[in-house]
Amino acid sequence: MTGQTFDVAVIGGGVAGVAAAAELARDASVVLIEREDQPGYHASGRSAALFAPNYGSGPMQELTLQSADFFTAPPEGFGTLLSPRGFVFIAREDQLASLPKSLPQVSGAELEAEVPLIRKGYAAGAAWNEGASDIDVHALMQGYLRLAKARGAVVMTGAEVRGLSPGWQVETSKGSLRARVVVNAAGAWVDEVAKLAGVAPLGFTPMRRSACTVAAPEGLDIGKVPMIVDADEEFYLKPEAGRLMISLADETPSPPCDAQPEELDLAVGVDRAMQACDVQVRRLESRWAGLRTFAPDRAPVVGFDPAAEGFFWMGGHGGTGVQTAPAMGRLVADLVRGDAPEDAALAAEIAPGRFGC
Ligand SMILES: Cc1cc2nc3c(=O)[nH]c(=O)nc-3n(C[C@H](O)[C@H](O)[C@H](O)COP(=O)(O)OP(=O)(O)OC[C@H]3O[C@@H](n4cnc5c(N)ncnc54)[C@H](O)[C@@H]3O)c2cc1C
Repeated sequence: MTGQTFDVAVIGGGVAGVAAAAELARDASVVLIEREDQPGYHASGRSAALFAPNYGSGPMQELTLQSADFFTAPPEGFGTLLSPRGFVFIAREDQLASLPKSLPQVSGAELEAEVPLIRKGYAAGAAWNEGASDIDVHALMQGYLRLAKARGAVVMTGAEVRGLSPGWQVETSKGSLRARVVVNAAGAWVDEVAKLAGVAPLGFTPMRRSACTVAAPEGLDIGKVPMIVDADEEFYLKPEAGRLMISLADETPSPPCDAQPEELDLAVGVDRAMQACDVQVRRLESRWAGLRTFAPDRAPVVGFDPAAEGFFWMGGHGGTGVQTAPAMGRLVADLVRGDAPEDAALAAEIAPGRFGC
């Protein structure tokens, strides 16, 4: 690898990086550089795997809509990426004002009839977020990696980027290479990678979110259970591989790291889920945490840094980086190529220049 020259080096093999690498490799020589042995080891492998319209910041909702066609009819080799999943926001009496007014509303009694898992008398109202699905994240990641390789991209794993000098000379733990453009898709480390390049960080904050799985109540038809989200996002619950996934929906600022869950966060999340739903939890079957990384305004940051030639930001995917990856990947490829993006207004809204860099 040492000494090889590429058009584009993508740093970070999460869902953002693999989508960008596959799209860029259509007509450019691309190297994808991932520090871990497995792509998707960090946030991308720890998500709730949901595709949910009407979730996340305004630009994220738009990018989700623009990704829908890809998810429903992916290129050959990706397999089936979506399976339908209900999604309902639930509210106690004191939370009714928090239900999103743009979504179809039902009463507490109607919710109990539709979702028997809800504890009788808990909810006073609910709002259905229609059009949600489970995403097969593994199939999405593997599909993009296969597509990138088929288009000639080189995928380096176990390779940490340790130095970047303009031009760009890329120093990795597995040798050095050159690239005309560097795409910074380093997830929670996006500001750290900028600092390596001498580029001013933009103030991203990784936020830890913890989750666990518990056994589903006996006799429950788990396939019919929707994702149940507290109206103030104080917890959520969803089916996950035959079990129930529960999260406190916590957002705790964290340095970039291999995130681990706090016992207290797991316990509070389970307690809230047990108050709202007819679930008895005797033990946690699995537990994990991941970092959702946000820019100061919680919108994604995609585009060339105005002050550093050839340095491209692809960060701040927050809690919707999986469901927006297809549109993100296409947008990155358009902008790096110098083509007009599909949605110029959106591209301008999420460009890094808004931070005055
Ligand atoms: C609990 C939880 C639930 C979520 N639920 C959903 C959901 O339902 N739907 C949804 O769309 N999104 C969800 N998300 C958010 C989603 O997981 C993220 O937005 C998305 O995975 C971010 O992808 P990424 O590629 O930017 O980051 P990552 O997957 O973290 O990838 C970044 C990669 O960069 C690598 N890297 C960093 N520095 C270097 C370096 N110097 N050299 C080489 N490599 C480097 C890292 O090793 C890492 O693999 C959830 C997240 C969490 C934690």
